[in-house]
Amino acid sequence: MNEDTAGFETVHDVVIVGSGVAGLSAAVYAARADLEPLVLEGPEPGGQLTLTTDVENYLGFPEGVGGMELIQRGTEQAERFGAEFVHGIVERAALEERPFELELSSGDVLRTQALIVATGASARWVGATNEDELMGYGLSTCATCDGAFHRGDDVLVIGGGDSAMEEALFLAKFADSVTVVHRRDELRASEVMARRAREHDDIEFRWNTELLEIHGSQEAGVTGATLVSHPDGRPTEKLDADLDVDSATVDVGGIFYGVGHVPNTAFLEGTAIDLDDEGHLLTLEGMTTETAVEGVFGAGDVMDPDYRQAVTAAGTGSMAALDAESWLDERTIQHEVSVSVAADVGASD
Ligand code: NAP
Repeated sequence: MNEDTAGFETVHDVVIVGSGVAGLSAAVYAARADLEPLVLEGPEPGGQLTLTTDVENYLGFPEGVGGMELIQRGTEQAERFGAEFVHGIVERAALEERPFELELSSGDVLRTQALIVATGASARWVGATNEDELMGYGLSTCATCDGAFHRGDDVLVIGGGDSAMEEALFLAKFADSVTVVHRRDELRASEVMARRAREHDDIEFRWNTELLEIHGSQEAGVTGATLVSHPDGRPTEKLDADLDVDSATVDVGGIFYGVGHVPNTAFLEGTAIDLDDEGHLLTLEGMTTETAVEGVFGAGDVMDPDYRQAVTAAGTGSMAALDAESWLDERTIQHEVSVSVAADVGASD
């Protein structure tokens, strides 16, 4: 951390935006490099892992580890090396010149030389009644994380894209039956994924159907669901328009949302950071976390539309901190060289 040129405002070496597994991993590495990183926790402190129960595929935990516990332990680990955590949501980023400026929803402005964007992606939710209460208690947005808890259950998968097909195929290994609930009569998924799901003996489809309400409790988990259907599709819209919509209650032990993820990059719109069509932050080609703006690095699900695993997010988090560290080192060397050249020129004048 440094005084800025005016001498009265703090300029951080590194600010990490996001406190999910990518942000935490970046914080551990940056703190161990004595960069005193400041971590902004964001609107969902701890990220997507805090929405899951046990994590069984994170290396080093043969008995599994709770998503929340993994995050808490990662936070302690980063704090142990000097990372500072503050609650803060970035509303706007000014990246045209350094130090970068981050305007928070509180109105505070932070200044930093390097910026690691680890804001993740938030799973899209459907809007069904009771989803807030039951998320993590039989309702999940991640079959890879929670599928194994549904051995012998009947489960629903909501969505008609590749994510939903992938979730359904994964869940079919454990569940007694998997029913894909899709709001139209045509899948959006790629042909190969759609065919695999359609040809699977344990996967059924309910077309033109949407999830209206989830039944259950945090103690009992998910026990059932109310589904609505209309032959023309998108039945909840027809409900709103007072059209004739069929309603049915089904008994199920689990519900999985596969309706897509939204990368949390709204605050980067209008900056020189490149985003793809879905809003993912684009890093430069090759194995790097650098972006189109020198000094800004991306890590975790915000820049990863493909793997989206806790362990890969931790990996790119560590890469971002290492990339930021060497970028800061290079700048320090360049600064020292230019200061000594200026001194030499001054001496010979
Ligand atoms: P997606 O392609 O946007 O599909 C989302 C699905 O959810 C759509 O079928 C959509 O219905 C439905 N949906 C959205 N909001 C809904 C709501 N509120 N209620 C009910 N249904 C809703 O998202 P994705 O499946 O996550 O895929 C995203 C990208 O990642 C795609 O490019 C995909 O190919 C890629 N991906 C690839 C793989 C793979 O190849 N293994 C795996 C996962 C994802 P409509 O169809 O009616 O819009």
